[in-house]
Amino acid sequence: MRQKIVAGNWKMNKNNTQTQALITELLQQLPATDAKVMIAPTFVNLAKAVESANNSAIEVVAQNMHQAEGGAFTGEISADMLTDIGIKTVILGHSERRAYFHETDALLANKVDTALKHEMKIIFCFGEELKDRQDKQHFNVVEYQLKDALFHLDKAAWQNIVLAYEPVWAIGTGETASPAQAQEMHKFIRETIQERYGNEVAEQVSILYGGSVKPDNAKEIFSQPDVDGGLIGGASLNAADFIGIINGI
Ligand code: PEP
Repeated sequence: MRQKIVAGNWKMNKNNTQTQALITELLQQLPATDAKVMIAPTFVNLAKAVESANNSAIEVVAQNMHQAEGGAFTGEISADMLTDIGIKTVILGHSERRAYFHETDALLANKVDTALKHEMKIIFCFGEELKDRQDKQHFNVVEYQLKDALFHLDKAAWQNIVLAYEPVWAIGTGETASPAQAQEMHKFIRETIQERYGNEVAEQVSILYGGSVKPDNAKEIFSQPDVDGGLIGGASLNAADFIGIINGI
């Protein structure tokens, strides 16, 4: 059975007080579920968030990290800094990191290696832009993102990889891929992994969908056979909406 996951990416939202308040609300309202529930507050609030969610069903994860072990990288955060405060999972390759901070798949391959060296799990984000889909290049784009950032890994490393397919045109836009579009791409992703790594890896890797998931569309998207949960942006900033989405899994 693949692990189901619902992860909330809080991006550059919520100060420390608001972070604590939202964690408290989530802990009070969290339904019993087989799915793993994760939240990704901003770096400065991580340590306190880890403390607050300690021994709970919510895992606190990081939104990003630098590929170097340490040194003269002003403003950056290393894998060691994250693991030292109890972070076990990092989101890498979010489309906002790719678009605004020019992160390429070659760079992301380095970040992936560093995270794995520190025994971290990775939620690896990728997905096509609107123009790619209009030009019917979306399968190609997604295939090369996967190959360039992840296909240097050996089979064993895949136990620590979760994929998050996030079509850029659906992120924060209110526009969602239809359940059929999500399923079509998730199936393609699983087949691409199967061709390179075989059935066992392809069948065990969780593939999340991200892009304007809301309480009212979560259930239908999550019920697709190759969709194993979601990476949620805007709707994870509000306890009622995030819990509504978790209830959809
Ligand atoms: C995201 O940023 O990963 C995301 C899916 O955002 P939203 O849910 O707001 O579209």
